[in-house]
Amino acid sequence: MFENEYFDATIPEQKCIALIAHDNKKKELIEWCLKNKKVLEHHFLCGTGTSAKMVADHTGLPVRGYNSGPLGGDQQIGSRIVDGKVDIVIFFSDPLSAQPHDPDVKALLRIAQVYDIPIANNRSTADFLITSPYMDKEYTRKLLNFRKKVEERAKTIGTEGADA
Ligand code: PGA
Repeated sequence: MFENEYFDATIPEQKCIALIAHDNKKKELIEWCLKNKKVLEHHFLCGTGTSAKMVADHTGLPVRGYNSGPLGGDQQIGSRIVDGKVDIVIFFSDPLSAQPHDPDVKALLRIAQVYDIPIANNRSTADFLITSPYMDKEYTRKLLNFRKKVEERAKTIGTEGADA
């Protein structure tokens, strides 16, 4: 019944980790990256523009920067998740300040959930994540077979009257 309903997707041994912090949390992210530099240097790092630059400047780690969060950086990282190019997200969001790009933040959280990507939104979760035995191993997750879903949906959604 569930044949082809799911497929195996691999998080490789060497992972791409996205780093994002809202302004009030940037210092915390830098401290966390410094503390975990030995682990982080075995992986590929990327992040939203300002977070990426600040982490790179303060730690010396190479971090690929996307646009700044409010200018679409969260969406760019979301799109990399969809393409299977981002494996983990460390996102120190600020629960006490309103963000102009709140819909983008929610979209990123949602897409990470859809693609079963480990995502830490506070320091303790990030600590648990970075010390996981899976950090230096491959990990296989089961993803919904989106192609099959599209085929099924295309067949079942009503289009009566649309064809000439
Ligand atoms: P920033 O974006 O790293 O460019 O500040 C982060 C965010 O606010 O989402």
